[in-house]
Amino acid sequence: MSNPAYPPATAPPANMYGGLPGYEGIASGGYLPPPMPAEPVAPPQPPPAPLDWSIPSLSEDSAREAFKGFASSHCCYSSGPADDGVITKMEPFNTYRYRLETFTESRSTECAEKPHEGEPADFYTQTAPRPWEVQANPPEFFVNHTEEIRVPFTSSIKECHGCHGSGASPCEKCRGQGYKECWVCNGSGTRGEESCGHCDASGKERCTDCNCRGTEDCQICKGKRQLLSYIKLKVEWTNNVEDHVVEQNSGLKVEDLSSVSGKELFKNSQYMVYPLLGFPNPAISEASDRMVRDHQSKYAQTSRVLQQRQSVELIPITRVNYKWKSDSHLYFVYGNEHQVSSDDYPATCCCVIM
Ligand SMILES: [Zn+2]
Ligand SMILES: [Zn+2]
Ligand SMILES: [Zn+2]
Repeated sequence: MSNPAYPPATAPPANMYGGLPGYEGIASGGYLPPPMPAEPVAPPQPPPAPLDWSIPSLSEDSAREAFKGFASSHCCYSSGPADDGVITKMEPFNTYRYRLETFTESRSTECAEKPHEGEPADFYTQTAPRPWEVQANPPEFFVNHTEEIRVPFTSSIKECHGCHGSGASPCEKCRGQGYKECWVCNGSGTRGEESCGHCDASGKERCTDCNCRGTEDCQICKGKRQLLSYIKLKVEWTNNVEDHVVEQNSGLKVEDLSSVSGKELFKNSQYMVYPLLGFPNPAISEASDRMVRDHQSKYAQTSRVLQQRQSVELIPITRVNYKWKSDSHLYFVYGNEHQVSSDDYPATCCCVIM
């Protein structure tokens, strides 16, 4: 429903900033490439020193405990298989996970306006800093964060287009009348034979939203009558995370591993990391080489790389075979958290989906 008393909000003309260095394309929006493409400057690093990379194998008791927890977390799984199943075989399928994180900063600009609350109109009093010259303090590394900044020397003041500078607009609740229909008599002033006591037979009651004024503060200028137009700089810090898990051929889905952690074998962070060459498992070195190249070329296009971090974890995975009522089944216990996955739990009695 459109109300003619509320003209549509119109954005300030984008072309007023067209001649400003660094803001020529503001009308088209989008992300701004950083002024200098960053070059990887990291020196080669030695491969990690050999460590004791064994992880203790899972005991039968721990496997059974984890399985019982799994059964009880599903409301109508019977605990029978978990309690009485007989473990026949436990096989380790431990695997490596390589993780690369690239922490970037990107910047975009747009024309904006806000109620004028006494800010000085500083447009053109000095040359505005270019988007990548505006001071913005990065938060903690590897944590997503967004900040919006009013670009200095781009602010001007104008009359509010929502209320033509009056600061007020008609009250929506009473349509500017200052009173509403009495809810008891629906505006008739009478109830059957008698006059309405709620509104003293007037059929009207006061509008409490506007205190009978019939007007309220303009939504656009919040009653300030004037707007401040300026260039808004949006700074976004993003942690771009990518994992590579070495195929383990156990039957467990790789996606299942995203919710668990493993034993950390290696971790380093610097401005731009160097691929982890010479890692004992060549699949990890290959993944590292490919992903580091990918990230550095992909993210340096439209953003500035501030920091990278890479890590390798060894994730414990055990495939457990067991017998229950003379049939063989299996489940997986994986991660430091001893998470369980079981696609063929034999007693899911009442969980039939209709
Ligand atoms: Zn009434
Ligand atoms: Zn009102
Ligand atoms: Zn207004």
